Amino acid sequence: MSSEFQTELKKYAQLITEVGVNVEKGHTIVVQASVDQAPLVRLITEHAYKLGAAEVIVQWNDDFIQKEFLANADDDRLENIPQYVVDRSDDWVAKGASRISIVSANPDSLAGVDADRVATYQAAAGKAMANLRKATQANKVSWTVVAAAGKEWAAKVFPDLSSSKEQVEALWSEIFKTTRIDQANPVQAWKDHDAKLASKAAELNKEQFTALHYTAPGTDLIVGLPKNHLWEGAGSFNARGEKFMANMPTEEVFTAPDANRVDGVVSSTKPLSYAGTTLLGMKFTFKDGKVVDFSAEQGQEVLAKLLAIDEGAKHLGEVALVPDPSPISQSGITFYNTLFDENASNHLALGSAYAFSIEGGTEMSEEELIAAGLNRSHTHVDFMIGSSQMNIDGIKADGTRVPVFRNGDWA
Ligand code: ZN
Ligand code: ZN
Repeated sequence: MSSEFQTELKKYAQLITEVGVNVEKGHTIVVQASVDQAPLVRLITEHAYKLGAAEVIVQWNDDFIQKEFLANADDDRLENIPQYVVDRSDDWVAKGASRISIVSANPDSLAGVDADRVATYQAAAGKAMANLRKATQANKVSWTVVAAAGKEWAAKVFPDLSSSKEQVEALWSEIFKTTRIDQANPVQAWKDHDAKLASKAAELNKEQFTALHYTAPGTDLIVGLPKNHLWEGAGSFNARGEKFMANMPTEEVFTAPDANRVDGVVSSTKPLSYAGTTLLGMKFTFKDGKVVDFSAEQGQEVLAKLLAIDEGAKHLGEVALVPDPSPISQSGITFYNTLFDENASNHLALGSAYAFSIEGGTEMSEEELIAAGLNRSHTHVDFMIGSSQMNIDGIKADGTRVPVFRNGDWA
């Protein structure tokens, strides 16, 4: 490890702890990471304690072991998540723990594993982690999703570089660029960027469109927006009023669609890495909010399993706007990782909506959220639909149209 890389990694760990989850005295921090990212995790742990963390809990995972588990474990073990796993995640919720998720996995880590088994486990794990997911999606706790350059992931993104070392370096360099680690003062750079996204969200909140109309090659879709919906950037506040940054990098402003008012056809424009498989060329037809027809050029079977997770998996839970000139999109790189690819592109998500996407939502019961039009589900999967050819109109209550996007950029 060069000393220059070591310095940048240290700055990255500082950014993740100070801006990502904004560690303050007494906080419990849960870090989820792959074993090959130990150097970063150690720096995060060290810095979090320096900032006064009460405890830093690290939950290690490993692509290889996960694949072996999903391919070979007894059916019973896939279906039944032990109570202690549920208790542990409930304990994190009770402590108001902040979560740092470090994504570095091989996008195709589960290729070849029976899609039924993967879906069975994901549904069971989703149910077991319901409280944690709800606390996160309601912003009760601070959370951040950040990236680290895993070897196999880097190989997939940069297949033309000759050595694994070069591939990993190239991916780290993109991660550092897009998270502004290459700037003199990354923490300040993030504060400025956050303010810019917040002002875009404020403009949209003032408009209160009843729907958005998307048009692009392969797309003609109306997405209804619920009454009192709120657009937000990734900069958010937890239940204690502490600021955090849910994703780094982030270029999006997003809200919840009305789960029952989505109609038309939409096509994906970027690969989606889901359940350890790459899905390509997806097309969905929606009627009254529900997917009534779908296809994929690659990964059709995996997509079918995703849509079958529960009723909510067939409805939308997020609508996000990202201008095509965003730095990630302009890099021209396909990252095969939602954290990056979603920030290169307008996207939608199948599955649950964020409770904070509607006024008063975080205090609403599940029934009240449903009544307000917010989708509930055990899953949430973003897929990318944006391109330089996409136009979006905002439709007001009186039917008038306002251009929101033209040729992939803010109108
Ligand atoms: Zn998003
Ligand atoms: Zn999302």
